[in-house]
Amino acid sequence: MSALDARQRGSGVCCAVCAAPALPLDGVCVFCHAPLDKEEEPIELLDYLVERIPSAKVRRGHLNRGPITELVVEVGGRTLRARWNKDNLEVHPPVLLTAWLDLLLTRLSDAAAGDANMRRAVLRSGWALR
Ligand SMILES: [Zn+2]
Repeated sequence: MSALDARQRGSGVCCAVCAAPALPLDGVCVFCHAPLDKEEEPIELLDYLVERIPSAKVRRGHLNRGPITELVVEVGGRTLRARWNKDNLEVHPPVLLTAWLDLLLTRLSDAAAGDANMRRAVLRSGWALR
């Protein structure tokens, strides 16, 4: 696929190592910590996360169809949320998206220590445990 095609689809820029949407934090992929110098609009981020986090819950649009509008992950007694508000992805706790993902992965890593299913899910995704 050409770069132009990728832009027209609005997605397609992925981390070459773990294939997550390209979201760098301090120059490395927030998911797997491989060096990453490009960044993607997080259009497919919630789909990506819900496919990989066994305990994630999502809401979709009308009649529970269509694109995901909200993702909620309860882990380690904390609730992390990401929700589309028009074209903005709002996260709770309210920090930068990459910082929120780093927090999410830290919580999941903690949970994975005592939960074999979670551990398998994290490792299968190619994410770096914290
Ligand atoms: Zn990666």
